[in-house]
Parts: sequence; C-alpha cells; structure tokens
Amino acid sequence: MPDTSRQTLPHVHDVVIIGAGPCGLAVAARLREKAPGAIFTDEEHRRHRFLHRYGRSMPLKQVRNGRVTCCGRPTASDTQDLDITALDATHDDWCGRWNKLFKCYNIEYLRSPMFWHVSPVDRDALLGYAYSQNRENELLEIHHCVGKEVSKHMRKRTRTQKCSAHSACNARVEINERDRIDYFNPSQALFSDHCRAVASRYHLCDGVVKKESVQDISFDVVQGISVNNEPLFTVTTDRGPQYARTVVLSVGPANQPSIPRHAFKAFSATESLPQACHSTQIETFPDAVVRTRMTNGQRTKVLVIGGGLTSAQLSDLAIRKGVTKVWHLMRSPIAIKTFDVELSWMSKYRNLEQAYFYSADTDEERLQMVRAARGGGSIPPRYHKKLKDHISRGRLELRTETKLVNAQFVTTEAGGRWKVETEPAIEGIPSFDFIYFATGIETDVAALPYLQTMRETHPIDEMGGLPCLTEQLKWKDDVPLFVTGRLASLRLGAAGPNLGGARTGAERIALAIQEHFEECKREDRISGDIAAADKDENEWERFVLGRGSKYSCLVEH
Ligand SMILES: Cc1cc2nc3c(=O)[nH]c(=O)nc-3n(C[C@H](O)[C@H](O)[C@H](O)COP(=O)(O)OP(=O)(O)OC[C@H]3O[C@@H](n4cnc5c(N)ncnc54)[C@H](O)[C@@H]3O)c2cc1C
Repeated sequence: MPDTSRQTLPHVHDVVIIGAGPCGLAVAARLREKAPGAIFTDEEHRRHRFLHRYGRSMPLKQVRNGRVTCCGRPTASDTQDLDITALDATHDDWCGRWNKLFKCYNIEYLRSPMFWHVSPVDRDALLGYAYSQNRENELLEIHHCVGKEVSKHMRKRTRTQKCSAHSACNARVEINERDRIDYFNPSQALFSDHCRAVASRYHLCDGVVKKESVQDISFDVVQGISVNNEPLFTVTTDRGPQYARTVVLSVGPANQPSIPRHAFKAFSATESLPQACHSTQIETFPDAVVRTRMTNGQRTKVLVIGGGLTSAQLSDLAIRKGVTKVWHLMRSPIAIKTFDVELSWMSKYRNLEQAYFYSADTDEERLQMVRAARGGGSIPPRYHKKLKDHISRGRLELRTETKLVNAQFVTTEAGGRWKVETEPAIEGIPSFDFIYFATGIETDVAALPYLQTMRETHPIDEMGGLPCLTEQLKWKDDVPLFVTGRLASLRLGAAGPNLGGARTGAERIALAIQEHFEECKREDRISGDIAAADKDENEWERFVLGRGSKYSCLVEH
C-alpha cells in the first residue's frame, strides 16, 4: 500500500496574477514595495470614498505645496512576503507580449508620457531611471501638448481681467509649463529596460512568471486542500490546476481580435482567411507571401484597415519595408490626438475629469465618460505627418469614411490576391497581396471562456462588456478576484486600458489584498482563541468529572 500520509498537498499561492503585461507587473511590484510613492493627492483623498478607506495607510501628496504626507502606520508591511506567481499565455517573462508587438511593428517610442510606467516607487521613477542611466537622449519631446490649451481667447481674458494665479481661468490650464519635463515619450528600449529593472528590484524575475494559458477560474472550498473550509481559487490552465487565496486578472483587452467578417461572404465565420490577418496575430512583417513577391521583383500592394495608431504604424512600416503601394481605409474621419485619451485626463495633479468620473452616480454614466474620452482610434501628430509624407510621394492612398463591404480571394498564375469593394466605391482600386486589420479588440467579459464559471457561481452586473467591480477592483465583496487594466475601466477611468491605469489599479489592489490577508489573520487568531478556550473548558470539565488533572488546566497556550 502506498503511504498516502507522506504525499505532499498541492501548493496554495497567496496571489496568482493572470497576465504578465505591464499591469500585472505593476501589481506584483506594488505588493512587494514597502514605501510606495504618493499617487493620490490629499484633495482626491478627501473627495473619494475608496481613498477615504485607506487614507491612513498610504502617502498622500498635498495639493498646495506638493509635500508628501506619510501614513500613520506602516504601509503594506505584510504584502512583501506574499507568495506571488504570474501566469501568462504567451511568454514566461514580464511584458513578453508587449515587447513582441513593439518589435514586430518596429515601434521606437511609446505614445504615452514619462509618468505612465509600472514602478510603485514614485511618479518620476521612469524619468529618474532615464537620467540615472544617462539615457535622456532616448526621450522624445511631445509637441503641441504643454500650454496648448491656453487659447488666444483665454490669454486675452487673462490680460483683461488680470486673473491671479489661483483664479478660475488659470484652473482651466491642464498642463502647466512646470510639468513640461513629463511630456516626453520614452523609447521602447528605455521603457522595457525600466520594466526589467522593476521586476529585478522586487525579485520578480526567476520563475515567478510561468507560461500557462488560463482556461477556467472557480472559487469554492477545495476538498482535501482548503483548511477550515477556506474558499480557494482553482485556476485551471493548459498545464493543470493552480490554487490561490487571491487572484488578479490583468489580461489586457482579453478578447479575441475582431475582424469585420461580413465582408468575406465566401468564408464561414470560423474559416481562416488566406493572406489576411489581425494586427495582433502578425508573426513577421510583411508576411512571407509579400516578401517572396518583393524578392521576385513583383509590384506589391497591401491594404491596411483601421483608424488608430497601429494602422498608421503598419502603413508606415510596410512602405519602409519596400511594399510598392499601401492603401489605408478608415471607417471614420481621421482623428489626430496626441494620446489615446483626452489631454484633460492626463495632467499630473489636477485630474478634474478623474474626480468627475469617481463621483458619477451610475456605471452607465462612467461608461459614457470613458467612451467620450477615448473616442475611436486616433493617430498622434507625429505619425500623421509620416502618413502625409508617404501620400505626397505617392506610396500611400488614404481613404477616410470608407468601409470594406466585400472581399473576394482570386487565385491566378501569379498567386492569390484580394479583390475588394468599398463603400463609397473607389474606382480603380487594385487587388491586394495582403490585408491587415488594425481594427482593435472589442472587450466583452461575457465572451471570455475562462470567466464563465465565475459568472455563473458569483454573478455580477456588467455594463458595455465590462464588469461592474467594487471600488477595490474586486469581483465581489466576498470574492477576492481583483481585476485591473482594460477590464477595470469602469473603476479606473479612461486611462485604465493604458499604462495610465497600471499604477492606480496596482495601488487599489495591493491595499485591498493587504486588507484581505489582515482580515484572514484576524479570523485565524479569533478561531485560535476559541479553540484554546474550548480546550481549557474541556480540561476543566475533565477535571470536574474526575477524569483529568487539575494541573493540565493551568497550562499556558
Ligand atoms: C502596439 C501597441 C502600442 C501601445 N503603446 C502604448 C503606449 O505607448 N502607452 C500606453 O499607455 N499604452 C500603449 N498601448 C496600450 C497597451 O496595450 C497597454 O498600455 C498595456 O499593454 C496594458 O497592459 P496590460 O497588462 O493591461 O495588458 P497586456 O499588455 O495586453 O498584457 C496582458 C497579458 O495577459 C496575457 N493573457 C491574456 N489572456 C490570458 C490567459 N487566458 N491566460 C494567461 N495569460 C493571458 C497576455 O498574454 C498578455 O501578456 C499599446 C498597445 C499596443 C498594441
């Protein structure tokens, strides 16, 4: 007979992070940081309930003088020792998918400013890292941003009304000259090295990230593993189950990429399309088919569909890689925006929009605010200029407010090509060697296969495809499944899907996880005291009944 008593029980992690992108790294790093920097101001603290709850356990930045007031009691002391593991579907390292996409699209600079990063130390950690490594030459100034919002009308009003520094007209200036230093784009190499430095500083490198794709999450008492009927998470991956007391979901846009399939009438919804793919599925750029034709000296034509930065990057890259002509179709008019979100959501301290967002009465209102702030896809001025240059040299044909309505794959002796029809129709549009869809990803929590069990056993409200989480970014008050990144947009605001939401999400989650484990400890202590009291009572009873010794009642526990 095998000695079953010697079999080891499966390990139960304190925290399992699903998704090792920037948001997952920000949570892991924040859980290990003893002295996090202030990311909220005292004004925000006064105004918002979720901050009120933790006001004493986090440093706050005073609005008037910028001084940071430290917390009354030590911060997050217990979370540094937590056993953390991260599971990622595509890589066994932090930000693997991020790095792969940047390399694939040949992107040199991020779109976001310097204070959007993953370090919990302080707001200027990335800037500090750039200077400490003598890499300030890897920062690219963002033009038309600082001071832009001071219109001629406002300047005239300021002159005529002699507004003082604290008057209402100045309050409308979103990005102060003093913050100019923040409005630079870091290079991808710098950002990526900074992420690596953060992971290394918090001992999150060796073996913390495992390449496993999550297929199901459930939360219940696990027979043979739970102690004292403690409910645990069973995270089922393609490699088997992992058990955890708390789970953080940081899966980015999460869903499958969306391709407008209605245009491909000859193909069923599940059939794969030849010589066409979504931007997130690109392995090499341009595709091998296009490269072979280029090497054979054939004229090549590529169709790019989409209105966001990725579409512009792909058009630009295709031309730089030698594709003869690129056609770029956009459903809407071209939107030129420096960032994914409006500038008013980005400023460093006066985050008025964020305050309106936190104070909104309903999730519907919040959803509308997020949608209004993000709009559809947009292209920063730097890339718009590149597109205009390609257009003037005849390498690019850009058609806005044009939809792809039909695409037929035609095979000739020269190989397969796409014959397309658009609305409005474009006369003389050629056949294409390849179609790239930079059409984004529609996030819908209801369509995520690995959340179906949680949605059935612990249902919560959903709005616009997003879960209505608690203010602590928890699934439900009694379910310690935390969510960050795009799926948490109804709580984090318009910058939630970007790096802008990474630190805010991490801060809220770390504080809630700390509270969760403190609560568990308190409960353990109480049940320990009750057990000890029961034992005392039993010993006393045994003595009174003449079965036990009086001295055993006196033993100290
Ligand atoms: C080309 C490109 C450039 C961008 N540039 C910027 C920029 O400059 N600034 C900015 O703020 N934002 C930028 N963004 C937006 C960017 O996606 C986010 O800022 C950032 O990636 C969000 O991080 P995240 O961790 O939430 O998601 P992601 O980076 O998408 O990470 C999610 C991770 O979850 C994993 N995952 C998903 N499902 C599962 C599963 N079932 N099991 C296990 N793992 C899973 C994925 O493999 C992935 O590694 C850019 C996006 C793209 C595509």
